[in-house]
Amino acid sequence: MNCPHCGGTLALDDMTRPNCPFCGQVLPHHARAAEHQVLINKMLAQQIGAQYPGTPPGNIPQVGYGYGAGMNNLQQFQQFHVDQGFKRARNMTVIMLVVSLVFFLVIFGAVGLVLLLL
Ligand SMILES: [Zn+2]
Repeated sequence: MNCPHCGGTLALDDMTRPNCPFCGQVLPHHARAAEHQVLINKMLAQQIGAQYPGTPPGNIPQVGYGYGAGMNNLQQFQQFHVDQGFKRARNMTVIMLVVSLVFFLVIFGAVGLVLLLL
């Protein structure tokens, strides 16, 4: 492949870099990858923002930026949230059990009290 800016011949190694080694211009496929990164991060920021209502934008957890690491981070990020979802569901189950146990104790306690008073 040749650099679209200066026409210099790019080796495979040169193409893994974001810039042309001859003229220093950003290579088009890296520019596109960077655009996708920005888009994905923007979408994620909106999704994350929706999950943390009332959180100022500066305090919302960010997904790492970086060339070539975007999809990987996205997967890790999703995995992290799936794990958290499971934990939250388990916590909810425990809380529901405790709450219903307390609820029954209170009701039986009240019934017992009424029976004692009668
Ligand atoms: Zn060039």
